[in-house]
Amino acid sequence: MKKVYLETFGCQMNVSDSERAASSLESEGYEIISDENSADIVLFNTCSVREKAEHKLYSKVGKIRSAQNLKKPLIGVLGCVAQLEGETLFQKNQGIDFVLGTRAVGRISNAIKNVLSGHQQFVDLGEREDDHDWTVSETQRNSPYVGFVPIIEGCNKFCTYCIVPFSRGREKSLSAVQIIQQVIDLRRKGIKEVHLIGQNVNSYRPKSEAGLEKFKGATAFSRLLRAIAATGLERIKFTTSFPRDFHTDIVDAINENDNLCNWVHLPVQSGSNDVLRAMRRGHTIESYLEKIDKIRSSPRTISLTTDFIVGFPNETEWDFQETLKLVEYCQFDSSYVFKYSPRPGTPAFQMIDNVSEKEKAKRFLEFEKIQKIYQQITLQSYVNKTVDVLVEKFSSKNPRQLSGHTTCHKVVNFESNFESNKELLGKIIKIKVTKSKSNTLYGNIL
Ligand code: SAM
Ligand code: SF4
Repeated sequence: MKKVYLETFGCQMNVSDSERAASSLESEGYEIISDENSADIVLFNTCSVREKAEHKLYSKVGKIRSAQNLKKPLIGVLGCVAQLEGETLFQKNQGIDFVLGTRAVGRISNAIKNVLSGHQQFVDLGEREDDHDWTVSETQRNSPYVGFVPIIEGCNKFCTYCIVPFSRGREKSLSAVQIIQQVIDLRRKGIKEVHLIGQNVNSYRPKSEAGLEKFKGATAFSRLLRAIAATGLERIKFTTSFPRDFHTDIVDAINENDNLCNWVHLPVQSGSNDVLRAMRRGHTIESYLEKIDKIRSSPRTISLTTDFIVGFPNETEWDFQETLKLVEYCQFDSSYVFKYSPRPGTPAFQMIDNVSEKEKAKRFLEFEKIQKIYQQITLQSYVNKTVDVLVEKFSSKNPRQLSGHTTCHKVVNFESNFESNKELLGKIIKIKVTKSKSNTLYGNIL
């Protein structure tokens, strides 16, 4: 039996693709292992959103090839770097045996068979089959209690800095009937929380409305949310939302359904309209704030998270101060901040990357300092409150502690005096929060 080690970089879409690749290999008789040194086949599912992520791949391949162990595994590159680079990857890195694009994940075992039967430097960048199998085996799921359900693939937005429309292709919404059926199956298998995933979930536009007819809603996405809520699954989260397509009816759907969770991830990227225009985001600060106000006016406390890029070409100190003002106004629960990374092939790559590395680093740190203050204030506001936590695992830092998420997607760690803590796994329980640290809440079972 061939042993396969599969490592994933990047977003939840890659995690979900890896779950399916591993499931398909397992069903073909491969053993999926967690020690790369004993593997016959090493797979890297890659990310190309920033240059750093790409470098990680090359250093990983180099490390395996220079290792002095006896095994010389086959190395396959999957995902976004594979899709963009295709066969040029073989010239860039001699250690790679095969390359499989973002839509060829379902043909992973075919790729391996080809290479094992002597087809050197095998490449598959073809489209996904329309009737592709989305099944994920229970052993290969990232979590036994949380399931990722892709609802839309690709992106049509072409923000000037972003490689995703090139690496993942155009938007393709999956059938609502299939998505709903998948959620029902997951629920039957004991999954308590699903994450509906896609680069822009709220741009969801299926070819047919089959499965959604009974549900009200201003957009196909809010109708889908109501349809998924009607399955009775305990928790439904969705990410990522695109500001221009964020119809406020999404907030109404959340308000009407307890199992739609208290969390919206709505990346804004910059607080300056000049920068947003240069990024071709299709939204302004004013239109973004209208949506934020609607989210904040919900009777539920909806947690709000976002993404920012600092140091985009021509971003001035004034633009950056506008970003900080936005952070102060919105008081995001948390935020991912990235230093602008020029990506070959994108329109922004033609602009001069004229904010120095030193200035990018300075803005990055200043941003983090301010954001952390608001993050702390928000986390602190949960102290002495009771939250519902889906218990997902033992804490990695302290095995006596269990760890899970709230409906507003905060991590909560707690100790328990139960005889068998294992029995709490997969349950949603009440935790009284006693303290907060930089990214985590701590508490006790009520
Ligand atoms: N579709 C989502 C949206 O537009 O809101 C975001 C998906 S993107 C893969 C995730 C994040 O990566 C973006 O929100 C952006 O902050 C960051 N990102 C994308 N391209 C980048 C680049 N060239 N340099 C730095 N950060 C980048
Ligand atoms: Fe990239 Fe913009 Fe598409 Fe998001 S919406 S994936 S940032 S091009």
